[in-house]
Amino acid sequence: MSIYQKKLYNPPFSHIYCEKEIYDTKKAQQIIKKFKNSRIILIEHYKDIFCRKRQNSFIQKNSQNLIIAKNKGCLIYKGAPVCQDFGNSDFYYTTTAINCIYDCEYCFLQGMYPSSNIVLFTNFYDYKENILKMLKKNSIYLCVSFDTDLLAIENLFGSCREWIEFAKEEKNLKIEIRTKSTNFNLISDITPCTNVILAWTLSPDNLRQAYEHKTPCIDKRIENIKKAIKSGWKVRICLDPLIYTDKYKTYYTELIENIFKHISADKINDISIGAFRMSAEYLKKIRRNRTDSLIINYPFETTNGIYHYNTEIEKELTSFVYYKIIKYIDKDKIFVWKENV
Ligand code: SF4
Repeated sequence: MSIYQKKLYNPPFSHIYCEKEIYDTKKAQQIIKKFKNSRIILIEHYKDIFCRKRQNSFIQKNSQNLIIAKNKGCLIYKGAPVCQDFGNSDFYYTTTAINCIYDCEYCFLQGMYPSSNIVLFTNFYDYKENILKMLKKNSIYLCVSFDTDLLAIENLFGSCREWIEFAKEEKNLKIEIRTKSTNFNLISDITPCTNVILAWTLSPDNLRQAYEHKTPCIDKRIENIKKAIKSGWKVRICLDPLIYTDKYKTYYTELIENIFKHISADKINDISIGAFRMSAEYLKKIRRNRTDSLIINYPFETTNGIYHYNTEIEKELTSFVYYKIIKYIDKDKIFVWKENV
């Protein structure tokens, strides 16, 4: 019997909150129509719900609700220092959604936001306007699936499609859509676009089962990658975060062999690797709530406010994976977080 059948929690999306200002818009209505059995509640501002006091975002994860809003705050951010920029100097990120339907124990979002409810910002036109202004000065590399997994919620939001259609018109805009989902079929009808990179994060399946709750299995993700490549998309593989365990050599060897058994190396755009790291502020908050998580309670070291494995382990783990990968793929296609090799 599931926790919902036992009535411990409401089923996911039992409540849909929508800002009054956008309730009548086409996009908000498209989303609301997908939730025929949910209670729709009109609100003034998404933060009235999202930033309520005395919430427990960890318990909320068992019963996430949806908030439909207009983002009137900052829309485009300079890339964070803990993130890989893939050699792009004009690196930015944006988020048309906050939070994720998956539940990775190591996810920084748990430390960042007061709520696990999912916020969907429907004012895509404002994001476009901002980017068009920026493009007048520089080309832009933009990660659009940053505080969320955008492809995982494509069926209810359709934001990946909007970003891809926009990128098609703006050749100086390069976007990355990163996912752990197996929802390529939802965008497979779109003609591939050379300035869009579809990026799949992969972990050894044992670690996925242990730490990446609710995510699709690795074989299905690899199947999705094959389909995307076959259709002509640029595909990035992200082995990030690398997770240290006493069996990491076996786990990562199996994963890398599995990847290159099914995907030909010359068809992969690039691969990123990076050992686990997280802002100390976020990790401390997560530790207070995930007291039984092995990864979160690992005795990390801190440098400049970032928790990470000690230098020896970080180097050992990263180097091991790096040297396994260069047996298959050109060094120029591998991006390593930090100079560990
Ligand atoms: S898939 Fe990404 S965004 Fe979603 S919970 Fe996992 S780490 Fe967080």
